[in-house]
Amino acid sequence: GNFIPPIKSNGGTGGSMTSRNSSKGDDALDESTKKCLEMLCGPDGELPEKLRNLEPRLLEHVSNEIMDRDPNVRWDDIAGLEHAKKCVTEMVIWPLLRPDIFKGCRSPGRGLLLFGPPGTGKTMIGKAIAGEAKATFFYISASSLTSKWIGEGEKLVRALFGVACCRQPAVIFVDEIDSLLSQRKSEGEHESSRRLKTQFLIEMEGFDSGNEQILLIGATNRPQELDEAARRRLTKRLYIPLPSSEARAWIIRNLLEKDGLFKLTDDDTSTICKLTEGYSGSDMKNLVKDASMGPLREALRQGIEITKLRKEDMRPVTLQDFENALREVRPSVSPNELHTYENWNKQFGSLA
Ligand code: ADP
Repeated sequence: GNFIPPIKSNGGTGGSMTSRNSSKGDDALDESTKKCLEMLCGPDGELPEKLRNLEPRLLEHVSNEIMDRDPNVRWDDIAGLEHAKKCVTEMVIWPLLRPDIFKGCRSPGRGLLLFGPPGTGKTMIGKAIAGEAKATFFYISASSLTSKWIGEGEKLVRALFGVACCRQPAVIFVDEIDSLLSQRKSEGEHESSRRLKTQFLIEMEGFDSGNEQILLIGATNRPQELDEAARRRLTKRLYIPLPSSEARAWIIRNLLEKDGLFKLTDDDTSTICKLTEGYSGSDMKNLVKDASMGPLREALRQGIEITKLRKEDMRPVTLQDFENALREVRPSVSPNELHTYENWNKQFGSLA
């Protein structure tokens, strides 16, 4: 709802969309933009050099929509993926916490790629990294840069990296990074998306060579579409696979327990795990949601009115509810797709 169309007003009816090139001395800025700029000012009360030539409304968009001050995900919220967690801790969290130790030979890469099927916890890992490293988290979907910000993507990218620079340590999470850094489509590639990509690579180059405490995490379901330049810059490449049977059991228990609905036996849980081979973490979440509707649907079928239904009268969620839900919620990833990830992991992955 807070999206600001990337259209410059000609001074007429445009309201807050007025185009401004400088933040200095502009009384026309509205209150929220002013407040946001104040928060970006250094201890001297001045806007940092890097941000001075950027448009206030883009800085405001980055601060309000892309920056997440409290990502609120911890390692313990993520099921399984033990190996990935261990590697990420060593490769990126420790260096963000102790930049004094991780320099010279130990200096870390500044780019991390998380690839694998959709809904396996890549975004969660990004948020957890920011949480554990006490870093500011920035989330942007690369496809929005090309769809929502037509013609303005480059400026937004500059604003994003500029604000991240002032909010170090920072983690910039770029979802669907393939749509930004895909292999050049020879003639087909639009001039604007080529410029956007170049700008992005320039920004990455900038903080890679400096002493900045910024980590870029790219996430993709289509790693094979990344070009060589992108692969080179994303030095660590971690495969985030579908959850194991244990991880699926953990997700079921964790979600139901949160609502006090977990009453399944170990045998029931292991039956559900057998039946959910190939389900992603987000498929599991949808399955649990659907199954937990079982007791409610049954009560309503028995003629109890929804307004009269007492929570304590509802029966617990059973194996049968899961079996019913399995007919509705199908796995979203096909076995064929998995081969693509595994092959790419063998060829380019860091842990293969
Ligand atoms: P991705 O970024 O890989 O597409 P997300 O991290 O956005 O996937 O996960 C989507 C949702 O699926 C999460 O909000 C969470 O509820 C669930 N989920 C996915 N993977 C896991 C996991 N490993 N542990 C716990 N929940 C998960």
